Amino acid sequence: MTKSIYQLKKEIVEVGRRTYERGYVASNDGNISARVDDKKVLITPTGVSKGYMKPEDLVLVDYDGHVLTQGKRPSSEVFMHLRIYKERPDVNSVCHAHPIHATGYAVAGLSLEKCVLPEVIIVLGGIPLVDYGEPGTDDFFEPVLKFLKDHDAFLLANHGALTIGSDILNAYHKMETLEHFAHISFVAQQLGGVKVLPKEDVQRLMEARARYGVPSTAGCLVCEGPGGESCEIYQGASATSNEKANLKPQLEQVDREALIKTVTDAVLKKLA
Ligand SMILES: [Zn+2]
Repeated sequence: MTKSIYQLKKEIVEVGRRTYERGYVASNDGNISARVDDKKVLITPTGVSKGYMKPEDLVLVDYDGHVLTQGKRPSSEVFMHLRIYKERPDVNSVCHAHPIHATGYAVAGLSLEKCVLPEVIIVLGGIPLVDYGEPGTDDFFEPVLKFLKDHDAFLLANHGALTIGSDILNAYHKMETLEHFAHISFVAQQLGGVKVLPKEDVQRLMEARARYGVPSTAGCLVCEGPGGESCEIYQGASATSNEKANLKPQLEQVDREALIKTVTDAVLKKLA
């Protein structure tokens, strides 16, 4: 890496300020780090608001978590950051925050896996919901490891969001993209529901990544998920897989009718 430690400190301070000002964290929450070289990592201190950090507040640690500088103590999530750098040599920065909409999805137990917005599909792919783990312990990041190889953005159940990137701004911008997507999804849900893109369009966007210089490998978690279902089933319309696409609305209708009948029967029984 060619950036000096001071330059990296200034970038973390700036990203911390944006994180706080955009309301992605409250109080002293959240943590941001950057890989300095193969021996050192720079990380935000514990107990300091990300909105008001000074370059000298940042803490230098080695890959075993030993603090190399005098002054503040590192974030309690330092081991998660170090583990990510070990597992992903291409990653040079990690951001963790609690943005309202993304965290809302994580608390509601909902992922943002469906293919909806072209920009998000290109940059992030499907965003997995990672099982809850107690903050400050190994349990916190163990569930992340399952998705770490292929994904750069994660929702942490009952906690918040995590993004990783090639540099500090890249990791932070993924946090912005994730929160923006969560906000849009939330609004769309209020307006009647999220419509996903057909699989063919998603495929084209994935192939376009090379053109945009995006190295991401994250695919669509719904299309490629354990059920092997296609996103277009959720949309209920497709130009090519009409069979599959038509199946779901019919099933939904049958299920809904069955449900209404069950509920009506139960109510009538009670009244009788
Ligand atoms: Zn947190």
